[in-house]
Amino acid sequence: MTQAPVRTDTDILATAREQVLDRGVGLDEQQTLEVLRLGDERLEELLELAHEVRMRWCGPEVEVEGIISLKTGGCPEDCHFCSQSGLFQSPVRAAWLDIPSLVEAAKQTAKTGATEFCIVAAVRGPDERLMAQVAAGVEAIRNEVDIQVACSLGMLTQEQVDQLAAMGVHRYNHNLETSRSHFPNVVTTHSWEERWDTLRMVREAGMEVCCGGILGMGETLEQRAEFAANLAELEPDEVPLNFLNPRPGTPFGDLEVLPAADALRAVAAFRLALPRTMLRFAGGREITLGDLGAKKGILGGINAVIVGNYLTTLGRPAEADLDLLGELKMPIKALNETI
Ligand code: SF4
Repeated sequence: MTQAPVRTDTDILATAREQVLDRGVGLDEQQTLEVLRLGDERLEELLELAHEVRMRWCGPEVEVEGIISLKTGGCPEDCHFCSQSGLFQSPVRAAWLDIPSLVEAAKQTAKTGATEFCIVAAVRGPDERLMAQVAAGVEAIRNEVDIQVACSLGMLTQEQVDQLAAMGVHRYNHNLETSRSHFPNVVTTHSWEERWDTLRMVREAGMEVCCGGILGMGETLEQRAEFAANLAELEPDEVPLNFLNPRPGTPFGDLEVLPAADALRAVAAFRLALPRTMLRFAGGREITLGDLGAKKGILGGINAVIVGNYLTTLGRPAEADLDLLGELKMPIKALNETI
């Protein structure tokens, strides 16, 4: 009697197909690293698998979100990628937006079909003035516009978390930015753990957690895989993925832009590590991926986009993204499905 051949096929994509696509179990850190190390000749195959995983575990809908900056620039922190830090020679001056402009931006955002409107402030954490502005802004938007409100206001105290939850803030964004081991090379004015604490409080208060970061900040592939594992442990509802757009005058101003193949490989790897999460293309993709990138990413694991302008750099116009979703026959997630 001949013995059955010993199975030697340990190809990571075959493993991912069975584990992630069939069973919905995300790749662990080591497996994610194997995916990040795949050669360019496997990229198409990887993107197709990531797309299948996204369709199976998230469905075809794409969530559209708009963001607005309530307070821009002049931040006391030293995140090395950020042109809004007041510690670098950066072009972004401190400025505040008034409430009528905020409401108008929410209206324009809702017109695009977006279901989420995120109010962002460049701060370490909110002070009383900012909390009062946010409270007034959220109330005005809720009275006049049919859209869910998210906030991104830096690190929070428990009291502030409770206040935001009481205002009806639906989702809170706070990025870990990079892996725990790389974080001290990126930020020195606060710790990764402080960020983690805010995220834990947000989750416990019942708000949705939005947490992602920036790829291409000098992290190794091991650290990129570590970051995916950090996020998998947190289990955020949404992960915005940014690619470093090196801003002149910041400490990371001279870093190389992440090559397109690496960026797409990372998107797919994060999808395989986080099969059920909403994975959003955020800033920097135009410079990393060019015009074709949006399409490739949306067919390679992405299922959420930001419309219009990013915070400090111009994104693509809303229409371009919305046209693309129409072309790909991917419906925009409707508001009533998200409540
Ligand atoms: S990333 Fe946020 S906390 Fe860091 S410097 Fe920029 S605005 Fe400040």
